[in-house]
Amino acid sequence: MQSISCEVLIIGGGATGAGILFDLSQRGLKVVLVEQNDLGTGTSGRYHGLLHSGARYVVRDPASAKECIDENLILRRIAPHVIEDTGGWFAAFPQDDPNYVPLWLQGCAQAGIKVEPLTPTQALREEPHLNPQVRELYRVPDGACDSWELLHSLVQGAAALGGRTLTYHQVVGIDVREGRVKGAYLLNRHTGEELQVEAQVIVNAAGPWAGEVGKLAGLKIGMSLSKGIMIAMNTRWTNVIINRLDKPGDGDILVPVGTVAVIGTTSVTVDHPDDRSITPKEVSEMLDAGEVMIPDFRMGRALRAWAGVRPLYDPGGAVSTQTHKEAHDEHVAEADDEGRFITRTFTSLDHADQGVEGMLTIVGGKLTTYRQMAEKISDQVCRMFKRENPCRTAETTLPTPEWLHRGKKHHTLPRRLQALEHAATQKPLICECEIVTRTQLEHAIHEGGPGVSLDDLRRDLRVGMGPCQGGFCAYRTAGVLQELTHLSREQAVEALRDFVEERFRGNRPLLWGHQLRQALLDESIYRRSLGLTPNPALEGETKHG
Ligand SMILES: Cc1cc2nc3c(=O)[nH]c(=O)nc-3n(C[C@H](O)[C@H](O)[C@H](O)COP(=O)(O)OP(=O)(O)OC[C@H]3O[C@@H](n4cnc5c(N)ncnc54)[C@H](O)[C@@H]3O)c2cc1C
Repeated sequence: MQSISCEVLIIGGGATGAGILFDLSQRGLKVVLVEQNDLGTGTSGRYHGLLHSGARYVVRDPASAKECIDENLILRRIAPHVIEDTGGWFAAFPQDDPNYVPLWLQGCAQAGIKVEPLTPTQALREEPHLNPQVRELYRVPDGACDSWELLHSLVQGAAALGGRTLTYHQVVGIDVREGRVKGAYLLNRHTGEELQVEAQVIVNAAGPWAGEVGKLAGLKIGMSLSKGIMIAMNTRWTNVIINRLDKPGDGDILVPVGTVAVIGTTSVTVDHPDDRSITPKEVSEMLDAGEVMIPDFRMGRALRAWAGVRPLYDPGGAVSTQTHKEAHDEHVAEADDEGRFITRTFTSLDHADQGVEGMLTIVGGKLTTYRQMAEKISDQVCRMFKRENPCRTAETTLPTPEWLHRGKKHHTLPRRLQALEHAATQKPLICECEIVTRTQLEHAIHEGGPGVSLDDLRRDLRVGMGPCQGGFCAYRTAGVLQELTHLSREQAVEALRDFVEERFRGNRPLLWGHQLRQALLDESIYRRSLGLTPNPALEGETKHG
């Protein structure tokens, strides 16, 4: 078995893990991050896209609100390229509780969140699709945040400082001897090879899988897994983020992201982090909630539904660094049976007092607070190494894709339209919806290296994410991939089938109107013309959502 060594091994390539990788690399430690899939394939790639101002949490979870506004202001400074400064509105409709408004205003003042009132007339002039029955509105500093772009910036920034990232490497064992971690065993999911990593400290940043990773070291980490669904609508209904001005509920936020608007979300407790099922009832309720903010929302074309699982910490299930009672009081603000009111602050655990020295876990928080989470746990790591290097991430601007010259992540439609208009786009279009050219595809395949999948290319280029949901571009992409990476015919067919099945999966709960027509067309292309039979394993998954 091959082996590598480092001072700190980070498990999990979401925002938290990537943030820690960047922070510790900046502080001069020798760090390796491992991710079982591609970067951002866990909760960080399945979230709502909101750079929180914190205003959503001011009434019930003021600690989380404060963390969000502090980090919101920092991220605007250090990572402007991943943020679209849409701004956000909190809007009260006739259905919303008027008694909530003074509590909310007081909470915003206490958390230091700048709130500016605007009249319904002003609001409707700016956003004509908004429900004209809106009673009261306030502007807050929310924004939209591209998590994939953020992750790539963090990982590339760390790489420039010596931090190493291994994607498609799953931790399958943790080596604990005489009460101390010595390292971990990895499985390369592309080649099936095993790899040993020697490490003095392991940081478990595996999000909703943190409990599973803990088990590998014989630890019990109490998690409350809260699933939420989101739906992407094929229209950017508003240019500003709309939040319902009422206590948090289902489907009460609409986020404009690129060319689409994403409505979400829900909060349902699930038993396993891989449970991403979506029921027609959830979809229907989400669209009803959309109608409150935007009349005729239901008539819009819904492109895709997906779900993510929040990695909330529930100390009830674990022995933590605090006593159970203290931890419970601190971290569970007000629990209901669906986990809605479990605090969104974060928790770091040192497992030394469970008999495993050198192992830390960080869970909870928000994508918005990833940097603060990374700072706190990196401080803890530095203390373990008796180093006094201070955190500098709040002052360091993250590298932009242009700085990186990697050609990845140039996926915003305006940038591509501009290139098309100025004849800078060469070679044929592969994906008409997202304007992806063959040149870009070839470049991304080259950058992705051996084993690059159609789904990796989707995340890099947005290929297959537009209204046709892969109908016209998936087979072309698979063809180019086969040609350039010399896949066998069987491998290419399997890759195409898995990709198409996954697209169908997100489409299926939304089949009516235009999207139903599109789905029938896609099905005729792939099932009837190309003869792709469904993958029985994926069909099984589909039954559960
Ligand atoms: C529905 C929903 C909406 C949300 N909306 C927002 C929002 O709008 N704004 C906001 O700020 N926050 C939002 N959040 C919260 C935010 O998305 C999460 O708090 C954050 O993304 C968690 O990041 P993470 O890195 O801790 O976990 P993850 O992103 O899940 O990363 C953990 C990684 O660990 C990897 N992993 C697991 N096991 C192993 C193993 N054995 N070996 C190697 N790798 C492993 C996983 O593959 C995964 O990629 C939302 C969450 C949900 C569920």
